[in-house]
Amino acid sequence: MMIQKDRVALIHYTLTDDGGSVIDSSAGGEPLAYLHGNGNLVPGLETALEGKQAGDKFKVTVAPAEGYGVRDERLVQRVPKRSLAGAGELRKGMQFQAQVGGTVRLFTVTAIIGDMVSLDGNHTLADKNLNFQIDVVEVREASAEELDHGHVHGPGGHHHH
Ligand code: ZN
Repeated sequence: MMIQKDRVALIHYTLTDDGGSVIDSSAGGEPLAYLHGNGNLVPGLETALEGKQAGDKFKVTVAPAEGYGVRDERLVQRVPKRSLAGAGELRKGMQFQAQVGGTVRLFTVTAIIGDMVSLDGNHTLADKNLNFQIDVVEVREASAEELDHGHVHGPGGHHHH
């Protein structure tokens, strides 16, 4: 069975940067299960997986525009501490969601200087090539409930409470 829109694929993956350092990997754990064609993976990886079958192994390099995006300096902002009063005690490295131009983005606190806080809304992997080593483990049809939710249930997928 081939990977195509609205099918579930289980994959093992290892993601490395251009220097060969491992950023993330499923090795040694459960494979990742995802619903193809529903934006659950970065676009460049979904494109590379299209049409693959169980047993296929391949490498693909995904450019930033098809990965976690190109760095946008407009998403680096300095705001007064008091404007983040609802966020609790502020620490460098903490993250929270904020809406910018109709899109929810994850902001990271990069510095706290006096009463000002520096925030960065770029993904930590923005501007980076993503080098994936992929191992397709299984391809199956999605259940009606999975299609309704837009993600996979059960092993390797979402768990609802
Ligand atoms: Zn669900």
